[in-house]
Amino acid sequence: MITTTRPEQTAIPQKNRLLVGLSLLLCVGFFSTTLISYYVSRSSIRESILTQELPLTSDNIYSEILKDLVRPVFISSMMASDTFLRDWTLRGERDSSEVIRYLKEIMTRYGAFTSFFVSEKTRIYYHPSGILKTVRQDNPLDDWYFRVRRIVEPYEINVDPDLANRNLLTIFVNYNVRDYKGNFLGSAGVGLTIDSVRSALRDYQKRFSRSISFVDTTGRIVLYGDGSDMKPQNISEVDGLRDLAKKILTEGAGSYQYTADGGTHLLNVRYIPELKWYLFVDKTEEAALAGIRRTLYVNLGVCAFVTLLVLSITGLALSRYQERMEELATTDKLTGLLNRQALDLLLHQAMTRSHRAGSPLSVILADVDNFKAVNDQHGHLVGDEVLRRVALNLREHLRESDTVFRWGGEEFLIIVQDCDSSAALLLAEKLRTATAGDLALAEMAAGLVTISLGVAELRPREPVDTLLGRADAAMYEAKQAGRNCVRMG
Ligand code: GH3
Ligand code: MG
Ligand code: MG
Repeated sequence: MITTTRPEQTAIPQKNRLLVGLSLLLCVGFFSTTLISYYVSRSSIRESILTQELPLTSDNIYSEILKDLVRPVFISSMMASDTFLRDWTLRGERDSSEVIRYLKEIMTRYGAFTSFFVSEKTRIYYHPSGILKTVRQDNPLDDWYFRVRRIVEPYEINVDPDLANRNLLTIFVNYNVRDYKGNFLGSAGVGLTIDSVRSALRDYQKRFSRSISFVDTTGRIVLYGDGSDMKPQNISEVDGLRDLAKKILTEGAGSYQYTADGGTHLLNVRYIPELKWYLFVDKTEEAALAGIRRTLYVNLGVCAFVTLLVLSITGLALSRYQERMEELATTDKLTGLLNRQALDLLLHQAMTRSHRAGSPLSVILADVDNFKAVNDQHGHLVGDEVLRRVALNLREHLRESDTVFRWGGEEFLIIVQDCDSSAALLLAEKLRTATAGDLALAEMAAGLVTISLGVAELRPREPVDTLLGRADAAMYEAKQAGRNCVRMG
C-alpha cells in the first residue's frame, strides 16, 4: 500500500488561527449584543422605578397619610368650633371637671389617642385624665403652644413627645380656638402616637415591598417602618446617603440613586408640608433586576453554546475540507497514485532516512512503451484505461514499504526502501513481466502493453537530481535496447 505523510504542518496553525478568529468574532458579537441589551433593560427598569414606581408609591403613601391625618384634623376642628368649649372658656373656666369630661368623651368617642385643650387665659393644659400642667413660656417643652398661638393658619401638625403618655413621640393636631369675634382662646386638638403611623408604615412596606421613612428638615430620620434600612439617625450618617444628604436637603423632592451594601438603591424624596417632613421611598434594584439578570445568564449560556456549536461544526468542516484538499494536492486523479508533488517530499524523506541509517535505497523509473500509438489507435479514453491498469499492476507487485508515483504522462517512479540495486533489478524485472503478461491490458490495447524500466541505487551523499537522472538514463537505455526490458543506471 501507499504510505503518505501529508504537509499538514502549515495547515494546522492556519486552521487554528481561523477558528480563534471566528470564536473571537462570535464572542464579541454575541456577548456585546447580550450585554448591551442587558444594560439597556437595566437602565429602562431603573428609569421606570425612578419615574413611575417610586413616585406612585410616594403618592399612595402620601394619600394614606392624609387619610390618617384628615380624621384627627377634622376632630380637632370640631373641638375648636364647639360652642361648649368656647362658652366654657369665656365663662371663666369655672368647673374643670366639665372640660375634662368633654375631652374624655372626644377621646373615647373618636378613638383618638389623646385629646387636649390649653387655655390662653389660664395657660392650663386640660387632658382627659385631669389638669396636666400649666404651660410656661420658659419651658422649652411648651414651645409648641407659643408657636401655635402666633400662626395665621387655623392649625398646625406637630410631632412632640407626649408628656401625659410616657413621653411617646406623638403627632399632635393643634387647632386654634377663637371666640365669636375671632379672639384667641387657646389651642385644642387630638394626638395620635407615632406607633399607629408606624404600623401604617409597616403595612405600606409589606404592600409595596420597599423601605419607607420620614426625615425632618434637618436630615434626622424621625420615623421609619420596620425592616427599613434607616435607623433613627441623621441621613448624613447613613452609608451611601452620606454624600447625597446635603443635596437632598437643599433640593428636596426628587429622584436619587446611591450605592450601599454593594447594591444600588433608588430613592424618591417628597416633601410633606403638613408634617414638615420628607418622605423617603427607597428600593434596592436587586429584586427588580433578578429577572433580567436570570435572562442575561441564560442568554450568555445560549451564546456560549451556539459559539461552541458553530466552532465545532466549522472545525469539523474545515478538517474535512483540508483533508480533501491535501488529498487532491498529493494524489493523481487518473490513477489514484501519489503525484509528483508528494514524490518531492517523500523521496527527500526516504533519502535522508537512508543516508542516516546507512540502509540501501533504490528507485525504478517505468515508462509505457509506444504509448502514443495506443492513444492514436484507440483514443485517449482507452489510453487512460491502460494507464490505470498499469498503475494497478505496479501497486499489486510492490511491498508495503515501497511507494509508487505517477511521475509524468505514462511514466511511473517507484521508491524501493531497504533495497540495493540487484534486489531492485529483480523487482523491476518482476514488474516488467507482470505488465507484459497482463491479458486484460493486452485486450484493452489490442496487443501487448509493455514497459521499459531504469533502476538506480542511491549512492552516498548523492543529490536527488543525480539519482533520478541516472534512473532516467537507464530507462532511456532500455528504450534504446528495444523496449520491454530493464537497465541499471
Ligand atoms: P516511447 O516508447 O518512446 O516511450 O514512446 P511513447 O509513445 O510512449 O512516448 P511519448 O513520450 O512520445 O508519448 C507519450 C504519450 O503519452 C504522449 C501523450 O499524449 C500521452 N499521454 C500523456 N499523459 C496521458 C494521459 O493522461 N492519458 C492519455 N490517454 N495519454 C497521455
Ligand atoms: Mg515517456
Ligand atoms: Mg513511453
